[in-house]
Amino acid sequence: MLAGHTDLYEVLGVSRDADSGAIKKAYRKLAVEFHPDRNRSPCAEEKFKQVTEAFAVLSDPEKRRAYDSSGMAGIGGFSAEDLYAGADWGDIDGLGGLGGSLFGSLFGGRQSRGAEFEQMQPVMVELQVPLDRIMHGGIEQVRVPVRGTCSACHGTGAKAGSQPKKCPACDGQGRQVTAQTRGNAAVQQISICSQCRGNGQVIEDPCPTCQGAGQSTETQKVTVAIVPGIADGTVIRLELPGGLKREARVIIRSQRHPQFERRGHDLWAEHSIDVTDAVLGTKLNVRTLDGECTLSVPERTKPGTVLRLRGQGLPIPGTTDRGHLYVAVQVRMPRELSPAARELYEQIRSQQTTAQQTPDQPQPV
Ligand SMILES: [Zn+2]
Ligand SMILES: [Zn+2]
Repeated sequence: MLAGHTDLYEVLGVSRDADSGAIKKAYRKLAVEFHPDRNRSPCAEEKFKQVTEAFAVLSDPEKRRAYDSSGMAGIGGFSAEDLYAGADWGDIDGLGGLGGSLFGSLFGGRQSRGAEFEQMQPVMVELQVPLDRIMHGGIEQVRVPVRGTCSACHGTGAKAGSQPKKCPACDGQGRQVTAQTRGNAAVQQISICSQCRGNGQVIEDPCPTCQGAGQSTETQKVTVAIVPGIADGTVIRLELPGGLKREARVIIRSQRHPQFERRGHDLWAEHSIDVTDAVLGTKLNVRTLDGECTLSVPERTKPGTVLRLRGQGLPIPGTTDRGHLYVAVQVRMPRELSPAARELYEQIRSQQTTAQQTPDQPQPV
């Protein structure tokens, strides 16, 4: 593992003081570039492994420290499993559908190691949390899909009552040897058995539950603690029950709210007021996430003005402070104009002189 790499920072093309964001960004870019499913050049796979290994070390603060102080020797003691277990795969979401299978096939070799690797791959799920929950904190339940051994066939992939059979093409060896003569030399060519793809076994009657894969996906319900004000995009690591030593990464997302938009710790809302209130000023009762609040609208408030309600936003974790609530004020026209109202407006107009008009009012062209 990792032998021959001189500088992991160089592999990712980042400086030694790069922060985790920069490391993630660099890795995502390289991983997409060299992913063997997309990049057909012969060295793409090797390059992909290199950048993934470098990322596994540098994205884990503990391993990065060890590497910074003692170089490759500092991380030499980690097994392959440990090496990847602590890496922050958290939001390498730019890779889209390149996830699990990709790692399984690249690092896994055949079945046994593939399954091992998949087990240490954290399961990633997104959790949409309502703003009210983010406001007050509490418990949310999340469903985590977990791949495990198919319970119908106990992982053999063969239909109940049948067994995988020794591959007749390679006699269970998983590889085929062909002898050729080239000139005076006898050349032995060893290749992976095409019949069983190197497994040494063939399944004649596949398990209907897992279609012969030997693995199936089950959903586990996991409880996640939400601290008040938890940031959007926070990744929570959870150990999954079942003694598999598997980890889930739950990515916290703020759910859309009909009234409030979250921006960091602040909330944004809109409120419409009448023309007369916009002109004369008023006091409004506005809904906040946890109650009501009085908002003073000053006289001559222009449409689109944003007013702030201090400390009416979301809690800021680790402090007793809260963000603010910003209210964008829109001005609504009267639905109809009664003769009496028209008369009053006309009185106002007749009293207005050109001199009283504010200079920023658009002038007719
Ligand atoms: Zn099965
Ligand atoms: Zn075979």
